[in-house]
Amino acid sequence: MPIAPHASVSTPALQARGVRKSFVSGRVQSTVLHDLTLEVRASELTLISGPSGCGKSTLLAILSGLQPADAGQVRALGHELNGLSMRALETFRLQHTGFVFQGFNLFPALTALEQVELPLSYMGLTKGLARKRAVESLEEVGLGPRMRLRPAELSGGEKQRVAIARALAKQPELLFADEPTSALDAANGQVVIDILHRIARAHGTTVLCVSHDPRLVGHADRVLAMEDGRILSDHVPLASPVASEAKEPSA
Ligand code: ADP
Ligand code: MG
Repeated sequence: MPIAPHASVSTPALQARGVRKSFVSGRVQSTVLHDLTLEVRASELTLISGPSGCGKSTLLAILSGLQPADAGQVRALGHELNGLSMRALETFRLQHTGFVFQGFNLFPALTALEQVELPLSYMGLTKGLARKRAVESLEEVGLGPRMRLRPAELSGGEKQRVAIARALAKQPELLFADEPTSALDAANGQVVIDILHRIARAHGTTVLCVSHDPRLVGHADRVLAMEDGRILSDHVPLASPVASEAKEPSA
């Protein structure tokens, strides 16, 4: 299936309308997402912030095509994801999305360089091109000198940067991050968020990050506050780069 070209800045990269999701546990059915509606702007870092258990990971899985919604519509880069088969969803994810996990999800036996090259070979890139892109991505997250090391030899912050480089090397239009800083201390968490922000700026990537950490709010271009399976507000945080650009006097 042909995929629409890169979404323009004015078109939302992601839209969800009336998304509902329930889980059944034993005889109890609990609704986790309640007819949730949202828009994520292209080429921005959007943060979905909310307490543990409010449905952030479930929402991210649905928006990235990992899980189907029970009802509602999800539109990503101009495609209705709810209309796609599982196979088409897999192709969509492979070609257009990157995912960064809380627990890094690195292979213990592989070097940083090999971790980043692996998905590129799945995508069918030649060895030479995969190597070139992997090296560039690792350099972009500041790990050029450490690319021959394995996870056990890297700090938590470095491991998460390898995971970001692995997602970035695919050159995705959409980059999803689920609690990417929660296993890190404050300083390393800040570095990771700054890198995600730089990726949105430098590559025009739409970055959607979920976190329960309120310290990240001021570092996003836009914040969607979530509670109990609903979006409560959608705002530009005062300390965000977008807010400061808006305040700058026009010369
Ligand atoms: P958050 O990421 O905000 O902490 P989650 O999306 O992980 O929240 O979970 C929201 C709720 O849905 C929780 O009550 C969780 O127990 C429940 N839940 C999530 N995934 C499943 C599942 N696969 N089966 C049953 N319940 C689930
Ligand atoms: Mg979660």
